[in-house]
Amino acid sequence: MSPGPPQLDPALVQASLPFLTLDAGGHLLALNPAAATLFGRPASELVGTAFPTLVDPFSREKAALLIARVLAEGSASDWELNHPRPAAPPLPVSYTAWRWSPAPDAPVAIAAFGQPLSAAISLAAQLATTNQQLEGALLQLERAHAELKAAQAQLVRSEKLRALGQLVAGVAHELNTPLGFVAGNLQFLAEQLPVLAAACPDPQLRAEAVEALADSREGLERISSVVRDLRSFARPDSPTVHAADLNASLAATVRIARTLCPPGVIISEHYGPLPPVVCAPGQINQVVLNLLTNAVQAISDSGSVTVTTALEGDEALVTISDTGVGMDEATLARLGEPFFTTRPVGAGIGLGLAVSLGIVERHGGRLEFSSTPGQGTTACLRLPVG
Ligand code: ADP
Ligand code: MG
Repeated sequence: MSPGPPQLDPALVQASLPFLTLDAGGHLLALNPAAATLFGRPASELVGTAFPTLVDPFSREKAALLIARVLAEGSASDWELNHPRPAAPPLPVSYTAWRWSPAPDAPVAIAAFGQPLSAAISLAAQLATTNQQLEGALLQLERAHAELKAAQAQLVRSEKLRALGQLVAGVAHELNTPLGFVAGNLQFLAEQLPVLAAACPDPQLRAEAVEALADSREGLERISSVVRDLRSFARPDSPTVHAADLNASLAATVRIARTLCPPGVIISEHYGPLPPVVCAPGQINQVVLNLLTNAVQAISDSGSVTVTTALEGDEALVTISDTGVGMDEATLARLGEPFFTTRPVGAGIGLGLAVSLGIVERHGGRLEFSSTPGQGTTACLRLPVG
């Protein structure tokens, strides 16, 4: 008759930690209720089961090794084995086991305690989370630092730009006076040409004089228009707000943008009637030039940029559409974020739209974008009128 299952000491039965004994083949001889709970089956069913089959498949080899180690060396401590759990990740349990014999002549056996590691694990997990948060904060700090440095560089640059603006405004002003008398003189020459021509016997010379005069007037007109554009663009930095002709302002800015345009890009303009718009025209020019520059840069080979204006309710609506590369959702979502750029280093610093949005906001207006990748982008600028 086989002996009944070995009885555990009541102290071990009541222990809150799993306790179990195994025969030399690794089969369960006895276990306390805490161990039965850990294995998820009643103790009576478990007796005789090979211990390695009770652990997570990835821990089985380690469990067999633990048994072999205890038999060979007498004991082993802190062996972590995972136990499967229904609807939860495996529970790690740290085992301490030793060789043991119930009686001097009884076959050798193994006794083991397990220490579930969930609490320790959750502490470690918390630590890991805190660590990640710290690393994230550090990254943010580093980024903020880089942005500050870039902002400082931009400040230096905008100081230089302001000085350049003043210089341009000064030069344009200085050019205005001689332009005035050159224009007056040309006008005088044009009027006197028939009289002069009558005195000249050479018809060839007469024809050349007429042509030279026409060329000079055309050249003068071009110089005047450049000076006009420079003056309207390089207004002093302190914004002078007044009721302005937005269409005229836009036309001047478009002329500047055209000079920066590669030959494949056509800019067309459709101005609708607008009442005077109270704004700082120099700043609005800056916004429009930023939008035009982005539109032109979005066109890789050839394409078109269309500028339109219209009165919509009590807002002046300026749209700038391009047939360029367009933007995906992720890029659209980041527009206006300072230092956001998709251009290679040196080609853009990502401040154009950030500055523009600031200006538009100060005007009580709105700047919105819609775009389809591969098809193009439309920027809508709305400014309150009156
Ligand atoms: P930057 O031009 O220096 O990159 P911006 O603030 O002007 O800075 O623009 C930020 C980014 O927005 C650009 O790098 C580009 O990726 C995107 N973008 C702006 N306008 C357009 C446009 N019309 N078409 C495609 N992408 C655009
Ligand atoms: Mg730009």
